[in-house]
Amino acid sequence: MSNREPGGWLEDVLVGAQSARWCTRPFCTTCGCLEFRQAFWTAAARQAGIDARFEAARLPREILSGVSVTDREGLVRTLVAGLGELPPRWTDSEAFRTIITDLDPSLIRHGVPMALDTELSGTPAGEALARMRAHFEEVRAQRHRQRAYESVQATEERRRAKRETRAIAHANRESEARRRSAERLDLLVAIARLSPGERLVRFATDPALVLDCVPAGLIPAQELDLTELERAMAVALLRRIGRRKGPWGRLRRMLGRLAEPGSPT
Ligand SMILES: [Zn+2]
Repeated sequence: MSNREPGGWLEDVLVGAQSARWCTRPFCTTCGCLEFRQAFWTAAARQAGIDARFEAARLPREILSGVSVTDREGLVRTLVAGLGELPPRWTDSEAFRTIITDLDPSLIRHGVPMALDTELSGTPAGEALARMRAHFEEVRAQRHRQRAYESVQATEERRRAKRETRAIAHANRESEARRRSAERLDLLVAIARLSPGERLVRFATDPALVLDCVPAGLIPAQELDLTELERAMAVALLRRIGRRKGPWGRLRRMLGRLAEPGSPT
């Protein structure tokens, strides 16, 4: 390692991780990249001249909890310097992103006041970090657009469902109206088949029959039509006709004469 440039130590770690086939996947939920992360933190400590061991550590804060504040800052700065020395062939690797993940944001993670982007600016690592940030932003914007789109879709779907419900209700009302008018037609056909005398009895006794729906042509209009009608029927029919006018009024006047006390039954 003595013939290496300063900072070349991190490339050694990356080469070693690659030949050992360690997992370097960022945010790996299976192994947490434990071997790799212990390796680069240990190498950074050695590089910084700090005596620290990280065997039991899993999280970045555990890795650094065992060292003093000064050593911690030295460790983080050494690791960042190592990143700054990496040649471009490493800066798009998973391993690189995993190291960044351990460091960023360094102030929150390790209490080291440092802007990673500034420290790395002008290096391949800095450019890679900028690409990571841009990618992250793009993913976030994409997610935002997707949510907006889904909410538009959801609104449209609710509107469509509402329109459909209204259309079904309308169709139901129409078919109900058609059913009722068909029923009324059947009733009128049945009434038309009756003789005038039978029709008068039906008018007097069928409460389901709406008199106002009876066409004028089906209302008996001659004295002769009333000859068979009993006085009780005439009285009942008079009550039903009430104060209606037109053909019903004419029928009422004829019935009135029939229902007068003393007139023939
Ligand atoms: Zn893993």
